[in-house]
Parts: sequence; C-alpha cells; structure tokens
Amino acid sequence: MAFHSVREKHAKALQFIEEVTRDADSVQQKVLAEILTQNAETEYLKRFQLDGATDRDTFKCKVPVVTYEDLRSDIQRIANGDRSPIFSSRPISDSGTSAGERKLMPTIHEEMNRRHLLFSLLMPLMNQYVPDLDKGKALYFLFIKAETKTPGGLVARPVSTSYYTSDQFLNKLFDPYSVYTSPKQAILCTDSFQSMYSQMLCGLIMRHQVLRVGAIFASGLLRAIRFLQHNYQQLAHDISTGTLNPEITDPSIKQCMAEILKPDPELADFITQQCSEQNSERIITRIWPNTKYIDVIVTGAMAQYIPTLDYYTGGLPLVCTMYASSECFFGPNLKPICSPSDVSYTILPNMGYFEFLPLDDVDNTVSTDLVDLAHVEVGKCYELVVTTYAGLCRYRVGDILRVTGFHNSAPQFGFVKRKNVVLSIDMEKTDEEDLQKAIENASIILKEFNASVVDYTSFADVSSLPGHYVIYWELLVKEPSNRRPTSEALNRCCLAMEESLNAMYRQARVADKSIGALEIRVVKNGTFEELMDYAISRGASINQYKVPRCVSSTPIMELLDSRVVSVHFSPAAPHWAVERRRVE
Ligand code: AMP
Repeated sequence: MAFHSVREKHAKALQFIEEVTRDADSVQQKVLAEILTQNAETEYLKRFQLDGATDRDTFKCKVPVVTYEDLRSDIQRIANGDRSPIFSSRPISDSGTSAGERKLMPTIHEEMNRRHLLFSLLMPLMNQYVPDLDKGKALYFLFIKAETKTPGGLVARPVSTSYYTSDQFLNKLFDPYSVYTSPKQAILCTDSFQSMYSQMLCGLIMRHQVLRVGAIFASGLLRAIRFLQHNYQQLAHDISTGTLNPEITDPSIKQCMAEILKPDPELADFITQQCSEQNSERIITRIWPNTKYIDVIVTGAMAQYIPTLDYYTGGLPLVCTMYASSECFFGPNLKPICSPSDVSYTILPNMGYFEFLPLDDVDNTVSTDLVDLAHVEVGKCYELVVTTYAGLCRYRVGDILRVTGFHNSAPQFGFVKRKNVVLSIDMEKTDEEDLQKAIENASIILKEFNASVVDYTSFADVSSLPGHYVIYWELLVKEPSNRRPTSEALNRCCLAMEESLNAMYRQARVADKSIGALEIRVVKNGTFEELMDYAISRGASINQYKVPRCVSSTPIMELLDSRVVSVHFSPAAPHWAVERRRVE
C-alpha cells in the first residue's frame, strides 16, 4: 500500500471515531432500531410481543434483562440444529465459545465486519503516539483452536479463532503497520506446540526487526516467554544448523520455515547465552532490543501480571488496545500509552446497543432502571448489558465498568472486574478485586526476598470446620536473591492477606470465629502453566484463557494439590474492631 494511502486510511479511521462518538445517543437509537427491525420476526422478540416496535421505550418496557442461564435452553436448541430464526433472522454462522465458562454464543457472519472495524482502528490510534511502527514488525503470539461441531452441525470455536481464520485477517491488503513475524501458516496450525514453536523461532530470527511484542492477554505472552525458557536449546540448535526441529511436522509450516530458517550460529549462541542465564530480568528487551511497547491486556484479572511483565521488559509501556468479548466487541483505548491503572475504553456506539445497570459501592444493583450509553455518569459503576445484531437482547455480559470520562458524547470506562463472588464461607463476600488487593498487600513481604507471586487461585475449604480460605501461590524468585522466602515470612503473608480482606471477613474471623486461619499453599514452578494446558486440552483458547481465580473442579484441585511444596497458615487473627455507632 502506498504511503499516502496508508496515511489516508489512518486519517479516515480517526475521523470515523470522531463521527461515531459525536452524537452517541442518536447512533444508539439507530442501532437499536436496526437490530429490532432486522430481528422483528425472530421467535425471541415475538415472545415479548414487540409487534414490530423499534423504539427504546417499548423495547425497555417489554424485553427483560437476562443472563446466559436464561438463554441456555434456546442456545442449546440452536446448537442441536434448530434452524428457525430464534434470536436472529440471519443464519447463525458459528458460535463463539467463551474460554472461562465455555459458553456457546450464537453469532452471525456480518458480526465479523464489526470486529474487523474495531481492529482496523487500533494502529491508526497507536500511530499517533508511537512513531515509525511501519519500519519493522510485530511479534504477536496468536493461536487458533481446531473447530468443533455442535450436535446440530454448527461450527463452534473461540471468537479469536473466527477472527484469525477470517478473510479479513488473512487476506487484508499489505499494510506496513501490521507486518507480523509469525507466518500465517504458524498461526493457523491448531497444534499449539508447533504453532508456538514456529512463531517463537520466527520471532528470534527476526529479532532486530521486532518493534512490538504482544498477545491478546498478558497470560498468553507470559506463556510464550516460559516456552522460550523451556525450549531455547532446541530453538538455538535449529538456528545454528538451519534445520527444523523434527517435532514440527505440519507440512505448510515446514515449507515456509525452509525459506526463513538459515544457519546462523552467532544468533544461536546469543539466544543460548541469554536464555541460560538464571536471571530473567529484562529478557524481552534483551532478546528484542528494539521493542517500543508490549501489546497485551493487563486490565481486570490480568493486572496481576504487571509486575512480572515489568520485570521481563524493564518497564516498557504496557498497552491495552481494546475491550471485547465473544458476545460483542466494545471499543478501543483512545490513549493507548498510559499507565495500566489509567486505561479507559471508549465503547463505540455503533457496535451494539448498550445499557448500564447502576451499582453502588459494594456492587449491589441500586436501580433496575437501566441507563443508556450516553447518560451514564462519571465516577459511577455499572454492569454492562448488551443487545447485539446476532440477537442477544439486554444480555448481562458480567463485567463491571467505571465511567472515567467522555470522548465527545461517548463515555469511557475503566474495567473494574467481572461480576462474581469468588469466595464466601460465612456472610462475607470476597471477589476477584478483593483477592487481587490482598495478594498485592502480601507481596510486599516477598520483596525482601526479591520474590513475587507469578500466579494464584483459591478455594473456600469447608471440609473441616470452621471453613477457611486456601490460596495457591506460584512464586518467582528473582535474581540476585540471597535466600528463598522463609516459612515464617510466608506465614506473615497469610496474615497480610487477611488484614487486607474486607471487614465482613475479619469480623467472621475474629468475632464470630466462623472462618479459620487463611492458608497459602505454595506450588511448584510451572504449575499454573499445567493448569492452562489442562484448560486448553478441554477446549479453552490460548488467546482467551484467563486463570480461574477460584477453583472447584476435582481434577484441577488434585493437580494443584499434587504440586504443593509448602503450606502456611496465618499465625494470628487480623485486626477487627466493632464499628462504633454514633449516638446523637
Ligand atoms: P471471552 O468471551 O472469552 O472473549 O471473554 C470476554 C471477557 O474478557 C470480557 O467480558 C471481559 O471480562 C474480559 N476482557 C476482555 N477484554 C478485556 C480488557 N480489555 N480488560 C479486561 N478484561 C477484558
């Protein structure tokens, strides 16, 4: 593509953002009318006697707010082969699976254009802040899953697989801002070892050309780095000899690697030297020295990977470019170079119809009157409810967002967390965010040992009474470290976590004694990698995988328990004082 036409394309993309956000409310009304017109004859809308109405008031008054559970039986009918228009008048082309809970989500072909539109805005936005991204390549670890078929013959695959196998992704015109080191053949290989191996090999061979390194979520990139640490000897051997690891059997990968891989003993020595060092500090920037930023999502549950990524990159900018889900793509981060705690996503009003369930400080719904996109208030928290072209109506995505400001008339949101209660034994509720804060608090103690928490999960153990929280920790002991965290320090970590948990927890622990001392089980290095392998073997996508912050399945708990290297308990009760009521 000629330079001026790329410039024009970028200018158009930025102009589009301005236009679509100028009058968010009228775009939203138009989107709702389009969706309701398109799907007027569907069984779902007929069920609520919309009778062809396309206005907001009738829609809100007649159509209920629902969760996945409410739709499960209808979705199952589609999966089983019912081709009648249940949610959408358009044929259901495939169904996305959402990694965490393995939900089937019907989707329609035209949704791909909306997803592509959002992706096409990302580089024009980035280009405003980071110069010369057209002068090199992107090392992105992208994966697809083998498609499965539902009983009725529909294709089921993760939303990221649909995108990376789409025409729009594979056959987009050459754009100097989106040149990847990974060949298509490597991304399209469904064997995750062969795919990762060949993507890593290409990244190493082209290491001086790499200007940005990324994956969708932070966990995907960290997996790639661990892969490098485990496989560098074989990778270096391939580079040194110019021959491909015989474990790579995919013919199309072999063919394309034959052109890329040439003997380069000097590079092989460099890789061996860098990866054999015990110290993995700045490993990313040592191997890819021209990296300008890291493109991975580190908001929400991914925030816990920030310290590890900072350690591996020496503090390069961590860029969260967009917010999306299997149900609907939402929008970009208009100021991608900012601290992870300041990341805001602008929900584009053309992506779907958006409503917001107002929440109070402790996530209780304060009103059942949903607020429209253009009318949310800065500083307030809401649960996101979407209506999509594919036919989801007033569907609770399960994400909690905080309004941080507006771009023109479109609100911008910080991602707060997924709505869920992770742990509860008595009356207390400990959610993902509480748990994350408690881990951060306890991690301060680990600093004296130059160690940090690589990953964690939890469960409420009620097998003995009183029940207590069990937290599984995998630790990273950084170099230089004089000693590993002592048992006494890890006991203190248990207490530090308890001190950080909310008042209800501490009351139950101290006054009611209905919760026992918190327990940390330290697991062997690589355990969370195995957990991810297990999820992937059960159908999760590497791109979309998120570590479960609370586990309940027996095989997962057996896996974790079999990797425990030490067990620690809180040595004392946390602080708790009766809140004195003021008597006037
Ligand atoms: P999935 O349907 O598997 O693609 O997962 C979608 C979910 O991932 C969303 O509903 C969010 O909970 C989470 N997610 C997606 N994008 C982001 C982001 N930028 N920041 C935080 N969480 C995200």
